[in-house]
Amino acid sequence: MREIDVKLITEKVRDLCMKANTDLGEDVLQAFDRAMGEEESPLGVEILKELKENARIAKEEKVPICQDTGFAILFIELGQDVHLVGGNLNEAIQEGVRQGYKDGYLRKSICHPFTRANTGDNTPAIIHTEVVAGDKIKMTVAPKGGGSENMSRVTMLTPSDGIEGIKRFVVQRVKESGSNPCPPTIVGVGIGGNLEQVALLAKKSLLRPLGSKNPDPELDQLESEILTEINHLGIGPQGLGGRTTSLAVHILMMPCHIASFPLAVNIQCHAQRHKETII
Ligand code: SF4
Repeated sequence: MREIDVKLITEKVRDLCMKANTDLGEDVLQAFDRAMGEEESPLGVEILKELKENARIAKEEKVPICQDTGFAILFIELGQDVHLVGGNLNEAIQEGVRQGYKDGYLRKSICHPFTRANTGDNTPAIIHTEVVAGDKIKMTVAPKGGGSENMSRVTMLTPSDGIEGIKRFVVQRVKESGSNPCPPTIVGVGIGGNLEQVALLAKKSLLRPLGSKNPDPELDQLESEILTEINHLGIGPQGLGGRTTSLAVHILMMPCHIASFPLAVNIQCHAQRHKETII
């Protein structure tokens, strides 16, 4: 059994919140480059260049990539041979988010649903914890903006809707979203499980590096077919026209009940932010 003091978790979460919000991943920058090579709209190319420049400034000057620094979403893989000491895991994470958003001068975006009163420190964070083998903890912080989250949906298709039903729903969702989720987007798709699980699958699919293949060849094929349809919609970068409405479609799937066919679409804006660490 390996002992880990929760103070270390607070420190790491603090740093991850700041890094995720200021340092866009290399995979996203490369996806912008690929899109620039394929984009037919001169304005679309210009916008993609601006997004790259924005990311450069954010990294160099340590300022947020976007004013919406998001809901702090945490994915924790907790090794079953870890013994946490010095406090409570949930509290340690919330404290890390509190410190990260304060020390990084990141906008506090979380409020009471009725009164809209801001909680003042961007907590509570949303924490997804999975117990895994080993004596390490992997922590991923993925700040999620409100604009793209608002465009996301869960639906229960019928089994007879089949793969065509998935395509129709996902493409229609992107079409109806238009410029609201700040395209170019990454379209996270969850298939199977049940109501809450399918939404989590869609969100988790967004953590896969851009440009990587889906390990399941059937899903990989489906991703590229849906992406092609999406990029024929003409929405383009920032909704001003062009081919690059989405940079990628990512799918995660699991078995479902014989009576069900759950589907979730979690749209991620171009500020595709997430950072991870292992302790
Ligand atoms: S959707 Fe994304 S890019 Fe647009 S304002 Fe929100 S966080 Fe920023």
